[in-house]
Amino acid sequence: MLKVCKFGGSSLASGEQFAKVKEIVKADSARSVIVVSAPGRRFSGDSKVTDLLYLCHAHIQYGVSYENIFAMIEERYNEIKQTCGLTLDLEAEFAEIRSHMGKRMSIDYLASRGEYLNAKLMAEYLGYAFGDAKDWLFFGYDGKIDLDKTYEAVGELIRKHPRIVLPGFYGSMPDGSIRTLSRGGSDITGALAAAAIDAVAYENWTDVSGILMADPRIVDKPKSIERITYAELRELSYMGAEVLHEEAVFPVRMKDVPLYIKNTNDPSAPGTLIRESFDEEVDDERSATHFITGISGRKHYTVISMGKIGMSGEAGFLRKALAITEKFGVTVEHVPTGIDSLTLVMPTGKVERCLPELVAELKAACQPDTIKVTGDISLIAVVGRKMAFRLGISGRLFANLGANDINIRLIEQGADEIIIIVGVMDSDFEKAIQVLYYSFT
Ligand code: ASP
Repeated sequence: MLKVCKFGGSSLASGEQFAKVKEIVKADSARSVIVVSAPGRRFSGDSKVTDLLYLCHAHIQYGVSYENIFAMIEERYNEIKQTCGLTLDLEAEFAEIRSHMGKRMSIDYLASRGEYLNAKLMAEYLGYAFGDAKDWLFFGYDGKIDLDKTYEAVGELIRKHPRIVLPGFYGSMPDGSIRTLSRGGSDITGALAAAAIDAVAYENWTDVSGILMADPRIVDKPKSIERITYAELRELSYMGAEVLHEEAVFPVRMKDVPLYIKNTNDPSAPGTLIRESFDEEVDDERSATHFITGISGRKHYTVISMGKIGMSGEAGFLRKALAITEKFGVTVEHVPTGIDSLTLVMPTGKVERCLPELVAELKAACQPDTIKVTGDISLIAVVGRKMAFRLGISGRLFANLGANDINIRLIEQGADEIIIIVGVMDSDFEKAIQVLYYSFT
């Protein structure tokens, strides 16, 4: 019954943050596999150690002294060591890293040292073992993670050392050299460890109390989402919400390990639980009044509407239109239709370079009676698995937008009924999100 806990950079940015992590880990004996990032920012304007390591590498390449930057990195770890009263021989660790410094030094090796050193310090602080990721997170020659080999190796390691700290963000290539994951990749490391051992939970500790119901830059102190499915998460993040990277969660999703997003600075806050699905009854009972999981949206869409009498009876009309957008390499995100009308909704950034030519070709190929282009449209997604079969949700949604003088330019509902999308003018974007948020919370 082990839990895997991943702590992000801001949770490990200083000795003071290390102390919070220790308290969290010691509060639950199941928290036995700890995955760490490198020290992140302590305050706004501060640097992440990973960024400093990349900068160091750039200086080496340009033949410029890296001493000042490396000294800043050393200083970050020395502070943690002193504040936490640790004995790790950091001077020897720094000397080892320096011995690799030269023009041919691998950038991945240097960048990975951020996590490596933090994990060593954390292992000593917690009294846990240390499991170097080079010995268990394996890449194939194609640069992809070798899942079978990795699961087997980390599973065995954890069986041997059930209380262990693992550095995130890197692993090794078949030739033994270090390779890093994409930025923020410690989330992936944690998910791999959790999936490998079928953990009872994967806790992702960060500096926010879970995923928020709306963008806090638009809605004042939005509530956090207690429970969300992966399908809802996908809709919210596609429409602009900043949440976990999909690649980061696929291992735990595949094994259906419950994934929690928790706040190191407010550990008693419930955070967000993410799962493939939830038990309906529990779900209903817990949130009888919450039909909406979250709201997100994106600005800057262009909409092309075509009208033609008899369109619905003309075989191939939609195909002809989409063949042209495809030819221009423009993605059409939505296609709301009427009996004799068709609307193509496209991100402005993708279509603006070729808009006049695209419209001309649509006219020639589809021969519409009317064609109209509207720019500056925003799409807003109201997402909620509990909306399906529930009467009155869309009624409330449209009525409240109307009552607040927000004109709805288009409407779409996903086939699985977990999402309703409304298009409004860009100038109404923030107001519409606020109206919808307060209508459903
Ligand atoms: N330290 C790495 C980064 O800043 C990886 C991580 O934190 O997940 O991207």
